[in-house]
Amino acid sequence: MTTSFDSKLPHLGASIFTEMSLMASQHQAINLSQGFPEFDTPAYLKNAINEAISEGKNQYCPSSGLPEFLQQIGELVQRCYIKDEARRLDPLKTITVTSGATEALMVAIQTLVRPGDEVIVFDPAYDAYEPGVELAGGRCRHIAMNAPDYAIDWGQVTAVINDKTRAIVINSPHNPTGTLLSSADMKALQRLVLAHDLYVISDEVYEHMTFDGERHESVLAYPELFERAFVVASFGKTFHCTGWKMGYCVAPEGLTDEFRKIHQYATFCTFTPAQFAITEMLKAHPQHIDELSDFYQQKRDVLVAALKPSRFEVLPSKGTYFLLLDYSAVSDMNDVEFSHWLTKEVGVAVIPLSPFYQADVLDEYHQKHKVVRLCFAKNDETLLQAAEILCQL
Ligand code: PMP
Ligand code: GLN
Repeated sequence: MTTSFDSKLPHLGASIFTEMSLMASQHQAINLSQGFPEFDTPAYLKNAINEAISEGKNQYCPSSGLPEFLQQIGELVQRCYIKDEARRLDPLKTITVTSGATEALMVAIQTLVRPGDEVIVFDPAYDAYEPGVELAGGRCRHIAMNAPDYAIDWGQVTAVINDKTRAIVINSPHNPTGTLLSSADMKALQRLVLAHDLYVISDEVYEHMTFDGERHESVLAYPELFERAFVVASFGKTFHCTGWKMGYCVAPEGLTDEFRKIHQYATFCTFTPAQFAITEMLKAHPQHIDELSDFYQQKRDVLVAALKPSRFEVLPSKGTYFLLLDYSAVSDMNDVEFSHWLTKEVGVAVIPLSPFYQADVLDEYHQKHKVVRLCFAKNDETLLQAAEILCQL
């Protein structure tokens, strides 16, 4: 007998990432679906976490994070985004260590969104934003970005803003499209946020992966915008340790105080040994972060070159570890059917793009678009093997 339960999120099931990774393993397909690196965490970091555990650094740390870790993150943020020496963030008051960027996003949303509020998100949107908004009693207003450049139409954003609008969620470098927001985008965003007293949640988890000399535009580099923002980052992406679930949120003091009230009861504190270990890594190997863009650009280029003879159209990837393929010349299937077929029958698992769009536009979406996402955070042999298979279609 099944118990009937009045679900708070009745329309949600397992995420598309869970579904496709499971299908990949069931069918022994090469898994370019869920975004995670195939290669290991740096040896230094593995040794550092082993040492922290062996030395007994295994108890709770302060709820907002180990002070020396917060200091190191503060230095990183300062070095990457705050050129004005006079502008110094106090890491102990503005940074909170979280259990992955996922926790930071959920807590930021719960901090901001009240019943009846509207939050603007841009489709294709990462799946973690909308459920949080709904749990807080708010609703998402979706604005579509269109292929091939997936740019934001700020005129459309202006038209959607009303008395209920509370926040705008941005994500750059962007999952799933690999696009970047420009400084003109950031200025347009800042104008709207200041004019309408809005807040921003800026998901910057791929901040250190940008290609062809392009720069990441962080909200942290825009002082007035930052005053109304929660900036979310993840060491999982940066140090190839997605399973450690180590993230953080940077926000001005007043917002951080409120964020910490909820973080305290969501989890209290984040895994202590990893905080010790990443502190050491940031001190000993700052160049790891500086080299990450080149590392991933090389992988992108390996995959793009290997797919050249194929019938897929490769869309430009300017950042993240994702690449979009238009398969219009290969199949008439919709993207979900195509991804299932590719995984089960062909042996390469990918992610369809339609689950990143709001449900009520899907019929129209399927008629117009045939695009899937590939993750290239894989060894070169894996990328070449997958490309060879795809070239046969
Ligand atoms: N935001 C985006 C855009 C992501 O792609 C991911 C993760 N894959 C996250 C947030 C969550 O990061 P974490 O694993 O640190 O929770
Ligand atoms: N962010 C990863 C992706 O886009 C998935 C993380 C997850 O499975 N929640 O593939």
